[in-house]
Amino acid sequence: MKQYQFGYSDDVSLIAQLEEIAGERDPSVSTQIVFHIFTEDPDRELCENICRVINDTIPDSLYLGASTCGNIMNGDFSDQSVVIVCTVYEDPSTRIELMQLPFTDKTNVEAAEALIKYTNENTWVRSVEMIVSCRTRDLKDFCSRLAELRPNISLFGGSAFSYDMRSVPCVFSSAGDYSEEDIIFMLSGGENYHIISTYVIGWKPLGKTFRITKASGEIIYEIDGGRAYNVYSKYLNIGNNQYFFSNALEFPLIFNRNGTNILRAPVACNEDGSLVMTSDLSEGEEVRLAYGDPWTILNCARRSATEVSSFRPETIKLFSCASRRAFWGNDEIGKETRQFSTFSSAFGFYTSGEFLRTNGTVFQHNVSLVIAAEREGTPRSAGKRGFILEDWEYSGRMSMISRLANFIDAATQELREANQKLEAAAITDGLTGLLNRVEIQRRIRDAVAAADDLSPITLIMLDIDDFKHVNDTYGHNEGDLVIKRLCGLIKNIAEENSPHIDAGRWGGEEFMLLVHSGCRTDRAELAENIRRCFADMVFDISGSHTVSIGVTDSIPGESTDSVCIRVDNALYKAKETGKNRVCFGKAE
Ligand code: GH3
Ligand code: MG
Ligand code: MG
Repeated sequence: MKQYQFGYSDDVSLIAQLEEIAGERDPSVSTQIVFHIFTEDPDRELCENICRVINDTIPDSLYLGASTCGNIMNGDFSDQSVVIVCTVYEDPSTRIELMQLPFTDKTNVEAAEALIKYTNENTWVRSVEMIVSCRTRDLKDFCSRLAELRPNISLFGGSAFSYDMRSVPCVFSSAGDYSEEDIIFMLSGGENYHIISTYVIGWKPLGKTFRITKASGEIIYEIDGGRAYNVYSKYLNIGNNQYFFSNALEFPLIFNRNGTNILRAPVACNEDGSLVMTSDLSEGEEVRLAYGDPWTILNCARRSATEVSSFRPETIKLFSCASRRAFWGNDEIGKETRQFSTFSSAFGFYTSGEFLRTNGTVFQHNVSLVIAAEREGTPRSAGKRGFILEDWEYSGRMSMISRLANFIDAATQELREANQKLEAAAITDGLTGLLNRVEIQRRIRDAVAAADDLSPITLIMLDIDDFKHVNDTYGHNEGDLVIKRLCGLIKNIAEENSPHIDAGRWGGEEFMLLVHSGCRTDRAELAENIRRCFADMVFDISGSHTVSIGVTDSIPGESTDSVCIRVDNALYKAKETGKNRVCFGKAE
């Protein structure tokens, strides 16, 4: 594999460059040439002209390109507005093909289906690079459909960008025309073609977890039941003004989807306090603020470069988010990617969204750096040297921001644990460890309201027989012991049937079991089991005891009071008819 990277200034120097490439081609080997064209200016005439020159000079080459938020040449941020990268694949078994398909709100899933169909028929395909230009930010359906790709296919790429709000991002390739709403797939494979892909975030989670309570597509309306913007104003003191985007950029939201960490940055804040995010987020998703700290980000990028270097790639494609460039600024952004060019050819562009397939699932990322490293054949040991971490990596130093973030995390964790203990204490009965009366009543009320014809709930109510006698004869402590052991029995049964049974203390020595419809164990069997086991228990001091039990099912539409009265009556009947028995309350 060979690579040439150069800027475009005019046709004459481009033609000279192309002729040099053509001249260096080994005529005895069947090579494949692919050009990547990245331009900060989405001007149609400019793009089409470059394509024409390439096509005229090296007619059998393939080319693909996009408008970008800046270009990466030789691993570094390039000040050239147009960068052209020519990759010459020299292994005769390597195959490269391009597909260009429409990509709108309506057609993006069709594009995914076409790719799946084609790659299923073409088993040589090992990787798909995709470059896309689209108006929609919500590509959830597209990404979830791509999970059906053959498991051994790597997929990575980025979205085109346009600086100027008046012009629209574009893509173009030798497989189609200049387009504002198309996707290009570059398919690579062959028996000696090798690829690995990974990504770097570097932004770290900070403090407490929030829940998205109202969202649609890429707009978050509510977080934790309040206006989404409140998170940025309350915790970060970021005003809703013209600086919102640049201030919020340092603090995107981080969340985990199927084990993969993803960032979404707010691009704007609406007057109603809703946030427009870089891509989709769903209701119910749990998010945290993330903080960007140069030291931490750089360390993550370096760690990733070390990993990638051991693959001994010949070329590395980099898809870095435009917001990373905004975060670092032009003078420093190169720091993140420069290290990749110490052991390989590296190029790419700054995107408006990155894509990467991880463990089969395709994710749309933001604020990330996606890395795809390619090689033809076995690693050449005499190739470029492996990447070596500089000494300061090992010094154990950490930035002040990282330490403060660590402090906040530790304090948040302590608070979370304290809250969990308080919440548990507020619903638990002190003596027995069962739910307290307020909590079991609340759960019964909710369950009765949700129950229907097909899923009635059952109540089982228990009262220890002749308990006054236990207290009077053996003392209150022995009475407590009897209560506790009965409750131990009840707790075991609830746990065995978890989460289908809730057990609570209804009053002194009265208990209630709420059996949800999903419970497989027969209700009569449950009640009888408790009765028998309790009767079989022998207490050292007070001997054995018994319990009476009432059981009833809920009737659709009835009130909580009505079902509670019926179970109480069933228990009363058990007492009346001799105690130590189970009686059923039938609906009238
Ligand atoms: P029955 O068979 O009709 O239920 O007769 P009983 O004696 O059990 O009558 P009842 O249910 O009315 O008696 C409840 C007794 O339980 C009264 C009260 O002193 C006692 N008790 C209530 N809570 C506790 C407790 O936490 N510990 C102890 N040791 N006794 C309690
Ligand atoms: Mg009682
Ligand atoms: Mg009793």
